[in-house]
Amino acid sequence: MHRGMVVDLKLCIGCYSCVIACKMGNGTPPGIFWGKVLEQETGTFPSARRIFWSVRCMHCEQPACLDVCPTGATYQREDKLVLIDADKCIGCKACILACPYESRSLWDGKGSYFEDGNTPYEVSAYAAHVPGAVQKCDFCASRLDEGLEPHCVQVCPTSALIFGDLDDANSEVSRALGEAQLPMQLKPELGTQPSVYYVTK
Ligand code: SF4
Ligand code: SF4
Repeated sequence: MHRGMVVDLKLCIGCYSCVIACKMGNGTPPGIFWGKVLEQETGTFPSARRIFWSVRCMHCEQPACLDVCPTGATYQREDKLVLIDADKCIGCKACILACPYESRSLWDGKGSYFEDGNTPYEVSAYAAHVPGAVQKCDFCASRLDEGLEPHCVQVCPTSALIFGDLDDANSEVSRALGEAQLPMQLKPELGTQPSVYYVTK
């Protein structure tokens, strides 16, 4: 199995639902975003256009972040998910420097979105994150293991995010990739072989 994602650039309306669902579902600390939406403007008036790129860890087949990790905290599963064992991470940031997609962040254990301190929700949510360890999108691995979709895929109102097994020719994600005219991976010249593809159907 090779888990991956197709992002349809024509369907993404830049609503940020995927970003918010990720933050809420994974309870990520202040200032840390496992998923982002990057905005690009192309063309000139009156034919200018905005394109929204929903990005997250690319779960590369050849991850630049893997071999640089001195403790084995970063590892790759058979389904190609690239994960972090936070208890093994020493926060050296080698992986942050190595990742060409700026997918990783280090949480120092501090911060709150509110002046009066953390809400009960934040206290509970942040307890799942290890201070001083690097973190990133894990494609909602625990949800996948329960047969569920990643949070971002579930909430996208336009179904711009398609997730599944790229090795299964009959999966929705493989069909979307097959129907695409020019499927793109980001920075393909680096040889990381991202498992996230961008298409315009
Ligand atoms: Fe785009 Fe879907 Fe994310 Fe909204 S939820 S920004 S439409 S990918
Ligand atoms: Fe590693 Fe970065 Fe690729 Fe994610 S996007 S697998 S963090 S190199």
